[in-house]
Amino acid sequence: MRATLLALYNLQTIDSGVLEIEKGGQQIPKRIAEAEAGLDGLRSELGKLNAEADDMRRQIHDIDALNSEESSKHKKWKSRLNELKSPREYQALSRELEMGERQVRENDEKGTTILGQIEELQKRIDAKNEDLRAAEVGASAKVRELREAQAKLNSDAEKARSGRAEALKAVPERVLKKYEQLRAHKGGIAVAVVSDGTCRACNVRLRPQHAVVLLRCESLEQCSSCQRLLVPDVLIKGEDKPA
Ligand SMILES: [Zn+2]
Repeated sequence: MRATLLALYNLQTIDSGVLEIEKGGQQIPKRIAEAEAGLDGLRSELGKLNAEADDMRRQIHDIDALNSEESSKHKKWKSRLNELKSPREYQALSRELEMGERQVRENDEKGTTILGQIEELQKRIDAKNEDLRAAEVGASAKVRELREAQAKLNSDAEKARSGRAEALKAVPERVLKKYEQLRAHKGGIAVAVVSDGTCRACNVRLRPQHAVVLLRCESLEQCSSCQRLLVPDVLIKGEDKPA
């Protein structure tokens, strides 16, 4: 039974190692997604700024089109102005012409203001583009690092599992069945070490008589509280005295 208990402890050590590795690996896809989500935020900000700039350019385009239409109309009016005989008609048209020209000047001023705004906006877009490029470099380095960590974990898990096949041979089938059942229901931990008469998985003290029986290493004992298979620490350390 001593050999079986040691084999059980060995098996649990391997399985716990694999469990830890898998837990570590589970975090990695989430962290990769986080690194990439940061970029999405910057890209959407940049998209908004670009849309704003496009809208302003459209306004400039509209103003230019309107003004060139108005200006060619004014040109025609000017040539007609000298043909008018009645002073009343002359005054009316020249007043309208004046108003039209003022409107064109105002539009031009508005266009100049928008051009200035576009220039400012473009500076912000350029800066944001640089932020994005820097973030992309950072994120791709981070993702590469995480992928490497993932690969290392996979190979560690593979190594740990390969030792398992050997460890299994030392555990009798009946005991192994119990081990797997407990492992499935006890968060992957089926074997508990007992030190100073206490189960170290659930921290409940064994009855003194039970502790004595356990130390004999002649039977497979379970914790009366957590049901896990018990292995005395002195056996693991090689400090027990065989009867
Ligand atoms: Zn226990």
